[in-house]
Amino acid sequence: MRFQFTEQEESFQKEVEDFLRKELPPGWAEESLQWPGGYGSHEVDEEHWRINQQLQRKIAARGWASISWPKEYGGEYSPIEHAIFDERTSYYRIPPPGFGATVAGPTILLFGSEEMKQEWLPRIARAEVEFWFAYSEPNAGSDLAALQTRAVEEGDEFVINGQKIWGSGAHLIDYAWVAVRTDPDAPRHRGISLFIVDMKTPGITIRPLTNICGVHSFNEVFFDNVRVPRKYLIGEKNQGWYYLVAALDFERLMVGIGGFKRVFELFVDYVKETSPDGEALRNNQQVRHRVAEIAVQIEVAYMFYWQTAWMLSKGLHPNMEASVLKLWITELSRHFADAAMQILGPYGQLETGAKLAPLNGLVPRGYLDCISATIGAGTSEIQRNIIAIRGLDLPRK
Ligand SMILES: Cc1cc2nc3c(=O)[nH]c(=O)nc-3n(C[C@H](O)[C@H](O)[C@H](O)COP(=O)(O)OP(=O)(O)OC[C@H]3O[C@@H](n4cnc5c(N)ncnc54)[C@H](O)[C@@H]3O)c2cc1C
Repeated sequence: MRFQFTEQEESFQKEVEDFLRKELPPGWAEESLQWPGGYGSHEVDEEHWRINQQLQRKIAARGWASISWPKEYGGEYSPIEHAIFDERTSYYRIPPPGFGATVAGPTILLFGSEEMKQEWLPRIARAEVEFWFAYSEPNAGSDLAALQTRAVEEGDEFVINGQKIWGSGAHLIDYAWVAVRTDPDAPRHRGISLFIVDMKTPGITIRPLTNICGVHSFNEVFFDNVRVPRKYLIGEKNQGWYYLVAALDFERLMVGIGGFKRVFELFVDYVKETSPDGEALRNNQQVRHRVAEIAVQIEVAYMFYWQTAWMLSKGLHPNMEASVLKLWITELSRHFADAAMQILGPYGQLETGAKLAPLNGLVPRGYLDCISATIGAGTSEIQRNIIAIRGLDLPRK
């Protein structure tokens, strides 16, 4: 067993690093610094969104938005190079190529018709279109198969009625990737379909929801007789559940691991340099132990991460591993925030902008934000259920 990159992988890592250093606006990494594993503790204003879109287009122009798609659809890199790309971009706090490139694109590649591939894949690969995920409903979260939003076939269209909730970015993004019930009489998992819906279609109402950090990041979205052309049905009618499960596995691999390394480096520098009330943090044994504990957890996260990439490169399906990685990384986000808060003591409660706020107020925001990722894309309890059932072969109950 050799734990090292090939020459080609090393040279790709350098290429990505050089690109990021050249293209990032000055101060980007500092200004956009957020707690690793969180969903976002700062408002995405129009300026930030515009800069991000420009960066994504430059990334796409290099073929990195569709980085591990098949060659004929613009991809030409291995899963390990994909993982290297995600690690470096998250280290520099670049929002990853969105759900279009990482979830919708791969799902269309696997299950979409040829017409759908021709229409959507090139646009996704050029970062011209983006999607938000319209899965959850007020009475369907962990138990997603309970979803009630209906789509009824009328001629060459489907008419959608219902309500979605917790739609991250629905107020900013042009297309929705919507799960709806198309056969109410079938067993729950067999009556669901997936659609692409243009957010400009009449009948869509968006209501903002403010998250724990006071930021408008997600939304309630109402569909009132929204007409969608048949060609925007993904794959086959009533097969959506199976596509959706595959798509959730893609989502669980997007862990932004480099952000952990970056923030941990900053935190360790802070511990080395700071002596609140005259006592150097670096000499305090409890502090040293907490920091060492987080260092070990980050190393373990990296091991899972590269193992998952390696499995993908061998054509293996990291189904249980995707849940292990998601669970470990998101719980790590909480452990790290907890350790940081304890080490900073009362200073840890000072927000961005306060004169004595350590690390520009990163930690108190992170302390609030870190909870989000243990819920989004399937809660920690649901990941443990998946590991028990798929990984350990325990009965479903
Ligand atoms: C930051 C954030 C962003 C999100 N973005 C989106 C998005 O863009 N699109 C979207 O569709 N949804 C999104 N969601 C919604 C998310 O997918 C759901 O919140 C999540 O699946 C949990 O569903 P729920 O909120 O209905 O909680 P519930 O399912 O009601 O769960 C409540 C509690 O019960 C536990 N629980 C439930 N069932 C079980 C079980 N079988 N075994 C053990 N414990 C269980 C859960 O773990 C949880 O602790 C987002 C959520 C968050 C926090």
